[in-house]
Amino acid sequence: MNELEKLKKIVAESDNIVFFGGAGVSTESGIPDFRSVDGLYSQEYDFPPETILSAKFFKTKTAEFFKFYKNKMVARDVKPNAAHIALAKLEREKKLRAVITQNIDGLHQAAGSENVLELHGSVHRNFCSHCKKTHALETIFDSEIPQCECGGIIRPDVVLYGEQLDDAILARATKYVADADVLIVGGTSLRVYPAAGLIFHYRGEKLVLINNSETNFDDRVNLLLRTSIGFALGQV
Ligand code: ZN
Repeated sequence: MNELEKLKKIVAESDNIVFFGGAGVSTESGIPDFRSVDGLYSQEYDFPPETILSAKFFKTKTAEFFKFYKNKMVARDVKPNAAHIALAKLEREKKLRAVITQNIDGLHQAAGSENVLELHGSVHRNFCSHCKKTHALETIFDSEIPQCECGGIIRPDVVLYGEQLDDAILARATKYVADADVLIVGGTSLRVYPAAGLIFHYRGEKLVLINNSETNFDDRVNLLLRTSIGFALGQV
């Protein structure tokens, strides 16, 4: 049995699958993983993405933050790919209990997934940093620095560098992982903590890793598929 057949068997036999995914899930929809294309952006911006997407930068260089954010982080014309579609189907079939994602693009919901735990927030939710009123995504494109009627700056509900993950979401994600029969991890280099630490809570023996490139966890998983996440999940 090859790796793909093993994956199919594991998925076929379970009704308690949890998926944990990173940027690689969305790159196949044309959303670049900014961690792997630093060089590309450095030609266009004076700071690396990690600096621009930080709480401090948002506060001190707000206009430049929004310029990068609108250009690179909000992809308005992208569509779910084979990975998103396959995961939504597994949920409808009552096999998959939750999608835990580090992505902020909302593509899992666009594909039909309902139980999506967004560790890093979503570009689709925006709120006034002063009065907390929510604003539609389009309003952030209205001006250089989007402002609420109250004068407060509108900010995306995404976790910036230097900010804490939402405790409640992290706790729910941890519980899903701890209780999972099958944990499929895909499209993440598992380098970003605390999110990457989630997999340590898994207690089963069906830990599947699907990733195009090497990770530090390759020798700790039960099944490793060195392929595209969309391709692998599209087969199950
Ligand atoms: Zn306001």
